[in-house]
Amino acid sequence: MAIVSRRLSAAVQIGRVTVGGDAPVVVQSMTNTDTADATATAEQVAALARAGSELVRITVNTKSAAARVPEIDARVRDMGVLVPIIGDFHYNGHILLSQFKDCARALAKYRINPGNVGVGRQHDENFRQMVEVAIENEKPVRIGVNWGSLDQALLTELMDENSRRDEPGDARAVTIQAMIQSALRSAELAERYGLPHERIILSAKVSGVQDLVDVYRDLAARCDYALHLGLTEAGMGSKGIVSSTASLAILLQEGIGDTIRVSLTPAPNGDRTEEVIVSQQILQSLGIRSFTPQVTACPGCGRTTSTFFQELADQIQTYLREQMPLWRNRYEGVEELKVAVMGCVVNGPGESKHANLGISLPGTGEEPKAPVFVDGRLTTTLKGSTIISDFTRILNEYVDSHYAARTPASANVNA
Ligand code: SF4
Repeated sequence: MAIVSRRLSAAVQIGRVTVGGDAPVVVQSMTNTDTADATATAEQVAALARAGSELVRITVNTKSAAARVPEIDARVRDMGVLVPIIGDFHYNGHILLSQFKDCARALAKYRINPGNVGVGRQHDENFRQMVEVAIENEKPVRIGVNWGSLDQALLTELMDENSRRDEPGDARAVTIQAMIQSALRSAELAERYGLPHERIILSAKVSGVQDLVDVYRDLAARCDYALHLGLTEAGMGSKGIVSSTASLAILLQEGIGDTIRVSLTPAPNGDRTEEVIVSQQILQSLGIRSFTPQVTACPGCGRTTSTFFQELADQIQTYLREQMPLWRNRYEGVEELKVAVMGCVVNGPGESKHANLGISLPGTGEEPKAPVFVDGRLTTTLKGSTIISDFTRILNEYVDSHYAARTPASANVNA
């Protein structure tokens, strides 16, 4: 399905999942529970994985959090969930990874932020200590630079260098260079300490769309490390979704990015799995990967006096998403299914014909019947109060008769 030619990157193995090389772009997410609460964290890891997250990161910020990591891992496996769990370390990662050996062993990858590992000689020493734990446990590392926690010593050095130039660049350009250099210098240091090249993933996250595009274009051109892509602190609701989509879409379309995370701020008591759905939708909308059958629905207009077609579109979309954990393992290629739910005869029959299954509901003044199209051909017309259940039955029959049974050998280990 991929229509985008990807930048060639070194493949990194994270447990059972491959990131980079010719592996599909991997969706990942992060928990927001207190890691010291092993039950809540394990449940959220499992929920994110069931929603489709192929890697899940947890923060490991305290000794009590580090101590619970093996239990979290065990609880997740007991739930039948195989997703690799990644540890996110800042400030005290060298202490936690060295002291909590079971934690270091249980995690599938470590994320290290070079801006948060100490200053001066202590920076290099702490960084070396973490890299040595990764080498000892044969774990990959993400060197994750972040605009908000950029290595200040390096930034000052580059700012000073810049100010001595005859024609100094602007502060934004220098900061972008500092981010890229922080990532590349840290990777070089990690390799000097003995971490293999193909166990390193880089990220350099910022919160502005154009800044992110500039940073990653430059970073991608200067190395072949697998890249973790994401807009940091994207924000809430439509702002977070649109900003993330705008930036990731540009870069993914250019073949940049081996794994993505959409960092949405959830609404109070909101569903953390939303960031997984958005990541999947970005990749599917770009035609890079397919995750779930897509519903094409018209926006409605003055021709539709009731909300019936909106309800039908919503119910069908929800039904498809709910079926996917089962269908994904049962039917080969079902994620490519396209369903159209349209509000009237203006575009209804035409759009329905372009989908595998389509239904065109009656608009205002139209005869109260709903023609159903299967692979472009009118096959039946539904009427009355059972339209939704009748259409769902047709949908189930279509899936069962058109998608071959999936075998274990045909399953994508990254999925
Ligand atoms: S398909 Fe019909 S109801 Fe839907 S937007 Fe177009 S004209 Fe309006």
